[in-house]
Order: sequence, then structure tokens, then C-alpha cells
Amino acid sequence: MIKRLAVGVAGIATLIAAGIASAQGYPTRPIALVVPFSAGGPTDTVARTIADAMTRAMPGANIVVENTGGAGGTIGGSRVARAKPDGYTLLIHHIGMATAPTLYRKLPYDPLKNFEYIGLINDVPMTMLVKNDLPPNDMKELVDYVKANAKTLTLANAGIGAASHLCGLMFQAAIDQELVTTPYKGTAPALADLMGGQVDILCDQTTNTTPQIVAGKVKAIAITSPQRIDSLKDVPTMAESGFPQLDVTIWHGMYAPKGTPKEIVDKLSAALQASLKDPAVLKRFADLGATPSSQEEATPQALRAHLEKEIARWEPVIKKAGVFAD
Ligand code: ASP
Repeated sequence: MIKRLAVGVAGIATLIAAGIASAQGYPTRPIALVVPFSAGGPTDTVARTIADAMTRAMPGANIVVENTGGAGGTIGGSRVARAKPDGYTLLIHHIGMATAPTLYRKLPYDPLKNFEYIGLINDVPMTMLVKNDLPPNDMKELVDYVKANAKTLTLANAGIGAASHLCGLMFQAAIDQELVTTPYKGTAPALADLMGGQVDILCDQTTNTTPQIVAGKVKAIAITSPQRIDSLKDVPTMAESGFPQLDVTIWHGMYAPKGTPKEIVDKLSAALQASLKDPAVLKRFADLGATPSSQEEATPQALRAHLEKEIARWEPVIKKAGVFAD
């Protein structure tokens, strides 16, 4: 019995040693950063900006973005929850990590049990957009127009649990009017269809919408940040437009599968912190209306604490709205 125990202890020691050894050499091959939405959209833009900067910050690293879109980000989330916890598969996700546990009756992962936390990345406001030839120019006109034409209008989103879905829910609740929604695998294709006139309304992050608003390809009605932002100075806030309750900021975080060695998580977290001081990242975020997380926020503890707080914050809101998915 003592002998067996000794062998057991030795075995555990070998396993721990192997873990430390692989953490010390890490990374020795490309790291996949899974974006749970389509390429070219807001989450993808944040992911590519950060992946490049973390690659520069971490000797030997090559972080490659992989898009696994669908079901509001939950397909990509499941993929990472089930991946080998060796530091070579990571997830970038937004506020959907906090809304999905209430929205989905059968979510295939638990955001509080199946992940390690690397850190918060940034905060991004959303813009309410309409296609260019839709008549309304401000929130008041939009509400009147939507109420008069509810049966024929379509509201695009990136699936249940996406930020665009959440913003759309808040909009419909605020104006007490249901709309027909069209789900996409991400808001890159949704925005393309808005520009093409196939859908009428979309609420999406400034990280996707700013260039198209500035180029005049879509009409921005209002922004969901408490103050106007420098990159879209002419777009009024929801509060200025009479809708203070439509105040929502989309935060992003980075995760690894549960069981990823602490040394690897700490290395990734340090690289994330370095990337949030990188002038190229700060410029890109500023151009797209994103506020970088502080060094203290870009830590495992801060992301975990934020996620817990956000799950608790959104649960009653979603339950009140009564929207659920299987
Ligand atoms: N962030 C978008 C949303 O949640 C999806 C995307 O990144 O494409 O609506």
C-alpha cells in the first residue's frame, strides 16, 4: 500500500515536471486563437490586432486567428472548452460569454467552470445603424418608422448571444416593438448585407462599423457609449437621443481551456498586458473607438471577477425579456 502510494506520488511528480517543462519551452508551435464569429467582423478585428501584438511580445510565438462562427459565438466557445489544455488553443470572446449561460437552455460549456482566464482586452461601444436609403436620421425618427413598418423591416444580428443580438433585444424592449431578426455567423456578413440593402437595421460594435460610417456607406443613428467618441464625433449618444437605458459597452476577454498550466496562462497574460501598451494596438483601438483594458484588468483574476459580475448583471435582464434558445 505504501509502495503503491509512493509510486503514485512519483507519478504525480513526473506529471507536474512534464507540465512545467512544457510551460518553460512554450510556445514551440503556432497557437490558435479561436474567434467565435466570421472573419472581418468586430471580434475578428480585435483578435487580429491583439494576436499580432502578442506574437511580437512573446519570444517564439506565432498566434494565428481561426474563425469558428455560428450560434452567437457558442460553437467557437465549445470548441475551446473541449480543446487540449496545452496553451495551443485559446478563445477570444465578448460579453456573450456572460449572456449565453442565461440565454441558452443547453449551453455545452460553463464559462465559470471550463476555462482558465487570461485577461480583459478592451471595451467597445455599439452603433445603431440603418441602411442608407431608410428614411430615419435619428432615434426619434427611427422609433416612429419602426413602429409604422414593423412587419416589413428586418433587424440583423450575429445569432443568439451575440452583442448585436443583445443590443437588438434592448432596442426592441426600449421601444416596445418586436422586429423580425436575421441571424448571421458574425456581423461582417450582416454589415455587408446592410450596405447591400438586404437587411434594414443593425446594432454593431464600432470596431466593425466606424470605417463604413465614416465612408458614408451606412447611416449611424446613435452610439451606446455614455459620451460621444472621437472617431465618430457627429454620432449622438443614446442618452442624448432620449434612450439612456440603451447604454451598453461590449467587453472582450481571452480564455484557455480549463487545466491549461498556470505558467502558460501567466505567460499569455504578460504578453496580453504588453500588447495593451503597444503603440500600434493603442492607435488601432483609438481609430475604431475601443478603450484598451488597464494592466490590472488584463489579468486572470480581473477577467474571472468581471465575468462573474456580468453573468449576475445580465441574468435578470434576459429573464425579464423572456428570450431563450436551445
Ligand atoms: N461581435 C459581433 C456581435 O456579437 C459578432 C462578430 O464579431 O462578428 O454581434
